[in-house]
Amino acid sequence: MAYPSGDSIGPLAAALANAVAEEWAHLAERPAARPGAVIPEDPLALTGDGVGESEALSMFFDQIAPHLSGGIGPHYAGYVTGGVTPAGLMGDWLTSAFDNNAAFSTDGAAGQFEKSTIAMLVDLLRLPTHLGGTLTTGATAASTVALAVARQWAGEQQGIDSAKVGSPYGLAALSGSAHSSIAKAMGVVGLGSSNVVALRNQSGRESVDLVELRQALTKRASAPTIVIANAGTVITGDSDDIAAIVALREEFDFWLHVDAAFGGFAALLPSDTRLQGWERADSITVDLHKWLNVPYDSGLVLLQNPQVLPRVFGNHASYLADESQPMDSGVENSRRMRALPIWFSLAAYGRHGIGALVAESVASAQRFAELVTADGRLSLAAPVHLNVVALVSDEIDVVELGSNLASSGNGFLSQATLNGRPVLRAAFVNWRTDPEALAAAVLEQLG
Ligand SMILES: *Cc1c(COP(=O)(O)O)cnc(C)c1O
Repeated sequence: MAYPSGDSIGPLAAALANAVAEEWAHLAERPAARPGAVIPEDPLALTGDGVGESEALSMFFDQIAPHLSGGIGPHYAGYVTGGVTPAGLMGDWLTSAFDNNAAFSTDGAAGQFEKSTIAMLVDLLRLPTHLGGTLTTGATAASTVALAVARQWAGEQQGIDSAKVGSPYGLAALSGSAHSSIAKAMGVVGLGSSNVVALRNQSGRESVDLVELRQALTKRASAPTIVIANAGTVITGDSDDIAAIVALREEFDFWLHVDAAFGGFAALLPSDTRLQGWERADSITVDLHKWLNVPYDSGLVLLQNPQVLPRVFGNHASYLADESQPMDSGVENSRRMRALPIWFSLAAYGRHGIGALVAESVASAQRFAELVTADGRLSLAAPVHLNVVALVSDEIDVVELGSNLASSGNGFLSQATLNGRPVLRAAFVNWRTDPEALAAAVLEQLG
């Protein structure tokens, strides 16, 4: 029977590090995608005695890894997918090696470390220093936390403590191109996924029509309302006019949530004005496993007034300290030191290194767009607003093109529908994604 032993980690860690270095050296050869891949049954059967630690490592590389995608490799631009940097990986490994609980501040510095790392992120994103929040598993979880706080705000207007007694009456969320996770989060916090009201966008854009928004707010003047402003839409990378939405707060009282899952990193582009006003939002969602290129799972919710979090997430027990704990600021009562891969990235690459990564992604999107549209068979569904290239065609079935590309293993883009039209989209987020190689793979499929 195999049993854990503290002594084995030296040779295991060396073997592991070598295997990972080998894997990373050959990432370009790993198929970008393996549609329909499944792990065979053999390694998935529970045994009585176990195979031992080092044999488990071999089993992983022999039997499981061959079925995984090269999502962090140079040929993948599906969805909005980050990669992992060497610094991010070190942080991730050490998160597990130390395995501290970041939700507690009674037994060590892990809780304070999370708070300080969030302050570094606030600085990176050029936001005011009083903003604070919680690290989450991703943007969906971040928006769920934000909407739970918005629910508390609406409850207080109706004289109820929503965390104690349930949802306030009549709360709905308005948005032009809300990400699907907003409806999910509305459902989770008990506000109802059907209470996300889709507003008309400006013509040819994924940016809300401000006349329509004003009308909707006028109609809802007596009901509590959340406005979801989008900074970076998945299909075309478009953004709402956040400054104009903020200005509407002079006339209307609403909770402003900015979903900046990836678009928040536009704050690092010199003289980019699309985020102007987001510093006044009540809540903001940013993903870190996207454009910061830290491994899954890593997101951030920021609040204008983070002191309200314990009103929603406060957790009380006799064995816990009286003063507020990190667990009172988010969903989990126990959580890994999610700050560590983030801190490693910020420490290793600094403001300029991360800024260069973001600028490089934007340039890659432009380059890829030029290359694949040059012969006219593919064209842009929308201008390349940021790091997303949305392609349409009058001649070619782009859905088929996308699935042929995925099956070839030489590239992966993802599909969507925009104004009833199928689009194939490439999102440049991962520091390794190679626009030239990916464009060559697309053109090869086109024949
Ligand atoms: C990716 C994304 C989300 C959801 O993020 P997860 O990290 O997958 O939970 C939400 N909003 C936008 C705009 C996104 O791009």
